[in-house]
Amino acid sequence: MEERNTLQKEIIYQTLCGMSCHPTAGMVYEQIHKQHPAISRSTVFRVLSRMAGEGKILRLEFTESRYDGQTCPHDHVRCRICGAVADIPRIQMAPPDDDAGFLLEDCTVIYRGLCPACRNSQSF
Ligand SMILES: [Zn+2]
Ligand SMILES: [Zn+2]
Repeated sequence: MEERNTLQKEIIYQTLCGMSCHPTAGMVYEQIHKQHPAISRSTVFRVLSRMAGEGKILRLEFTESRYDGQTCPHDHVRCRICGAVADIPRIQMAPPDDDAGFLLEDCTVIYRGLCPACRNSQSF
């Protein structure tokens, strides 16, 4: 049982890592379901959520949660029309002086814009 769970977890992780679109859990499930119909939707959702909690993958919170197998520091850009998400190199910024007494641990930057497809379909 434990071994089967480990295998499913690995399949879910590898599938996520093979998707550069920063998929929702539902999109990961659709992809897995094609080759592994025995893995349930609830398992995919649960495993992704757990791995995000463990820091093995990233969870990006938009109006929906998306997942990212790349955990090295980087930022994201999101298309304001279709919601597509892509990676953007992180620009190193000096931490602000006035930190309100907080211990600063992390900073998330989300750029907004138009993806290539939406950009092409816009008529100016
Ligand atoms: Zn778009
Ligand atoms: Zn990313």
